[in-house]
Amino acid sequence: MPEGDTVWNTARVLHRALAGVRLTGSDFRIPTLATTDLTGWTVRESASRGKHLLLRLAAPPQASPTAAWTLHSHLRMDGVWRAYAPGERWTARPAHLIRVVLRSPEAVAVGYHLHELALLPTAGEESLLGHLGPDLLGADWDPDEAVRRLAAAPGVTIGEALLDQRKLAGVGNLYKCELLFLRGLSPWTPVGAVPDLPAVVALAQRLLAANRGRWTQSTTGSLRRGQTSYVYGRRAQPCRRCGTAISREELGERVTYWCPVCQPPPAAH
Ligand SMILES: [Zn+2]
Repeated sequence: MPEGDTVWNTARVLHRALAGVRLTGSDFRIPTLATTDLTGWTVRESASRGKHLLLRLAAPPQASPTAAWTLHSHLRMDGVWRAYAPGERWTARPAHLIRVVLRSPEAVAVGYHLHELALLPTAGEESLLGHLGPDLLGADWDPDEAVRRLAAAPGVTIGEALLDQRKLAGVGNLYKCELLFLRGLSPWTPVGAVPDLPAVVALAQRLLAANRGRWTQSTTGSLRRGQTSYVYGRRAQPCRRCGTAISREELGERVTYWCPVCQPPPAAH
C-alpha cells in the first residue's frame, strides 16, 4: 500500500535512474497533458513530500521562459512508478494503466495509474502542498507541530486524525492500524482522550522510517510473508498478543483492523 515510506522509496528509485538525465521523449496518456512534450528537458531531482511525488525538471530555454518545473503525481492506493532499462519490457502493470512514459538513453520511467498528475512551475509547489502537515520522512520533520495539529481537533477520532495529511503527512491506512494497536488505542478514541499524543507521533515516524529503503512494509520486525503486521489485513486471525480474533470494520472510506481486547473502546461519552 503506497504510504509515506513507499512514496519515499519511489522517489529514490526515480532519482537514481533519472537525476541529471536529459529526456529524449515523453508520452503523456492523460487528456490534460496529452500535448505536453518534455523532449530535451533535464530531470533535476526526484523528491517526496508526504504521499506526493515531485519530479523536478529543468526546461530548455526555447521551450519555456520558466526554467524550473515540477511533474507532480500522487500514488493513492494503486499508483506505481517504475524505472526500466532501455529496451526492457514494461511489466509492472497492464499497459492501459500507463499515464506517462519518460524516455532517456539511461532509463525509462513509466507511471501507472497515477493521480493528480500535473506539470507546474516548481515555485508553485508550495501552493499545491502547503496545506500538508509535517512530513514524517522529510528533512524538516517537526513532531511538535504534528502534535499541535492533532491536538487542535480533540473531538476527531484518532483513527481519522492520523490519516489527515494536513495534520501530519505520510501515514496511510496500514500504519494507522498498526500504530493504534501498538499504542493500545481504539481507532474510535477521540484525540482529546489519547493519553500520550507525542508518543503516538514519535512511533508513527519510527514505523515509516524503519521501512525506508525496502518494499516490504513490516511493523513487527519480521519480513516473512504473513508475519509483517499485527492487525492490518488479519481479520478473524488471532491477535499476536492476546489471541482474540482481530476485528475489521469500515471507518469512513477506509477499512480498519483492531484487536477488541488490546484496544478497548473509549468510555461512552
Ligand atoms: Zn489482543
